[in-house]
Amino acid sequence: MLEKVLVEDYAAEGRSLARVDGKVIFIEKAVPGDIVDVRLFKSKKDWGEGYVTRYHELSKNRIQPFCSHFGVCGGCRWQMLPYEQQLSYKQREVEQNLKRIGQVQLPAVMPIIGGADTRYYRNKLEYTFSNKRYLTDEEVKDSNISQYQNVAGFHAPGVFDKVVSVDECFLQASPTNELRTAARDFAIANGYSFYDNKLHTGFMRTMQVRLCTTGEIMVNIVLGHEDEEKRIALLEHMKHSFPQLTTLLYTINTKWNDSLYDLEPQVYHGKGYVTEKLEDLSFKIGPKSFFQTNTKQGERLYQITREFAELSGKETVYDLYCGTGSIGIFVSKQAGKIIGVETIAEAVEDAKENAKLNGITHAEFFAGDVIKVCDDAFFAKHGRPDVVITDPPRAGMHEKLVEKLLEMEAPLIVYVSCNPATQARDLKLLDAKYTVEKLQPVDMFPHTHHIENVAQLKLRKN
Ligand code: SAH
Repeated sequence: MLEKVLVEDYAAEGRSLARVDGKVIFIEKAVPGDIVDVRLFKSKKDWGEGYVTRYHELSKNRIQPFCSHFGVCGGCRWQMLPYEQQLSYKQREVEQNLKRIGQVQLPAVMPIIGGADTRYYRNKLEYTFSNKRYLTDEEVKDSNISQYQNVAGFHAPGVFDKVVSVDECFLQASPTNELRTAARDFAIANGYSFYDNKLHTGFMRTMQVRLCTTGEIMVNIVLGHEDEEKRIALLEHMKHSFPQLTTLLYTINTKWNDSLYDLEPQVYHGKGYVTEKLEDLSFKIGPKSFFQTNTKQGERLYQITREFAELSGKETVYDLYCGTGSIGIFVSKQAGKIIGVETIAEAVEDAKENAKLNGITHAEFFAGDVIKVCDDAFFAKHGRPDVVITDPPRAGMHEKLVEKLLEMEAPLIVYVSCNPATQARDLKLLDAKYTVEKLQPVDMFPHTHHIENVAQLKLRKN
């Protein structure tokens, strides 16, 4: 236990740090300027990790979080910081990662592009139904409050079997809160059981809401088992209460995990998908499709990517880790040809359909692991890349892919990353042949510590 520690600085990944007796202590739920008591749960020679047990003084930097669930729900952990400050911490994290891990010659990082909308910015949310409500420390002490309550909301951080009962969430616009409340209240009023994540029993399980900038809305209600009568009554209630729904689906999930990827959502009402727009392009989004969750900032991200690609209309562009092909499709008007590669077969099907939907005939998409698909024969068949756009998951690019890219010597690479640490590691490897020319962070997720960064790399001229 450390007492009255002054939190000095922001660390990374949403944590802050203090220095105590020459040791660096990483602290959760604290911001620079706080004076706190810290209980260590990890203590090494040079560093430790802990959480706050008492706030003696709150930092002057803090502001009042606008959500009543702040601190309990894990969703928006930075609401106590003014948005400008969140952005400056993100900017610095990109810079420091690139400097420390990348250790390559860098241009100045351009000022991070913040979102105009710091609320209601998500087009997709998943709510969880649970027969156990997460109780705060205060509530646990109150013997009149039972945890056995049927609730809808989000998992409390680190607690897989209890859910924070959410009254109002600011991440997604109306009618998201009304939808969640209506489903929950109907289920309670009619005696439906709520899912128990330990026993794996219960009817009401999860609900996904997709809300597009086009105004289209998709709801998918996931049930723990089939009960036709109950299911139809619930779906009818939702359909009639929300005539604005574009489509309503249900999915029966009897598995132990919540993942939808191996399940078959069934269309109950409407066309079974929604359409989102980026610039003048349309994208069809099904219940299992991936799409950038912040549409407006996603569009900005793609515009930066397109700008960095410096296309003239003739280039062969590879879109690696292409998901549903949205980057490739977005830049296609300025390119000669698009070749997309993605491991999830359904996403590749979506990519093909989205290309067709937009009348794009010079884009092809291939399913498989990038390191398997992108071999010599593949490049021989589809042509040497003039531009490679790569957008890997948090783990970054596989080393073999980096080696292949070094071998292929595309004149220009645009690296879109959701994890500046792994991006920095990859830039260090690419430094063998590439210089980093431009760096542009974009904030896709206000009030969280998540960062997106776009890098432009050019092949060194010998
Ligand atoms: N560029 C897309 C999606 C990026 S997310 C967009 O902007 O929408 C990263 C994608 O990489 C995911 O769709 C994931 O399925 C895919 N992926 C992860 N590992 C992969 C691999 N080894 N080979 C190909 N794709 C992979």
